[in-house]
Amino acid sequence: MALIMGRCIGVDVGGTKIAAARVEPDGSVSRRFRTETRAAEGPDRVIERICQGIERVMGEEAVDGIGIACPGPLDSRSGVVLSPPNLPGWERIPLKERLEDRFQVPVCVENDANAAAWGEYLLGAGRGADPMIYITVSTGIGGGVVLDGALYRGADTYAGEIGHMIVDPQGAPCGCGRRGCLEAMASGTALARAAAEALRNGDGRIREWSGGSLPRAEHVFAAFREGDEVASRIIDDGIRYLAIGLANVVHLLNPRVIVIGGGVAGAGEMFFTPLRERLSNSLMPSFADTFELRPAELGADAGVIGAAALWAKRTD
Ligand SMILES: [Zn+2]
Repeated sequence: MALIMGRCIGVDVGGTKIAAARVEPDGSVSRRFRTETRAAEGPDRVIERICQGIERVMGEEAVDGIGIACPGPLDSRSGVVLSPPNLPGWERIPLKERLEDRFQVPVCVENDANAAAWGEYLLGAGRGADPMIYITVSTGIGGGVVLDGALYRGADTYAGEIGHMIVDPQGAPCGCGRRGCLEAMASGTALARAAAEALRNGDGRIREWSGGSLPRAEHVFAAFREGDEVASRIIDDGIRYLAIGLANVVHLLNPRVIVIGGGVAGAGEMFFTPLRERLSNSLMPSFADTFELRPAELGADAGVIGAAALWAKRTD
């Protein structure tokens, strides 16, 4: 089945990396190109690197369109990127217009988590499941909702900000300026912050995991695998908040499948088993066993594939 009519390029713009590739009609990916975002250099330089990525994968063959997955918040109708916390200096940047001027083909710009959600729905762990919820747990926490066979965008295309659901009103400050968002309590950044605090208190074997440098989420997972108690407590706290957030979403949307992407998708059953348990304890009894919780399947390609497929579905 052809998912994409036409020759299309997908680009995933992240806070640290830009990935571009051609996406074939069946959703397969070829001619990948990756480069650093160097977000601190500001929008003009980053857009220049996005263009370089597109040119590299385009080669001599023309394309019909370009789909961009970009950190939100953004307006996917106008393709204007509003002010993403991890792209400093971006204030109402008309990314769609700038790329259309440059390449003279239709461009579609979508929130990165929404694009990944659409990719997992079409070709990954959420294939055909409706409603499907996608949540990515990495540096931050993002989400996307597929409802009645389409990405649910909301009145202003801002929907799906699962990471900014408040799960603890007294919780840690969040990058969005509020307090106790899921992202502030359960993201990789939140785990790293808890590990740094434990390091200051001299708790556990945190110094061994990080080799003395500032601990990152992967150090916490490595120690957790070895049975370190402090790491287990930090991860259990993250899972507890994740379960609260997911329970809220399940009660609102009664999904068939929840797909978990980002760094934790590869953590295996030592992460998913306690998450399933905590989640089922947080649900009203009628919601038990109504959905499946699955690790994402497309890995880093989800955004590129989803952005290209959303380009193919655009209405302009
Ligand atoms: Zn927030």
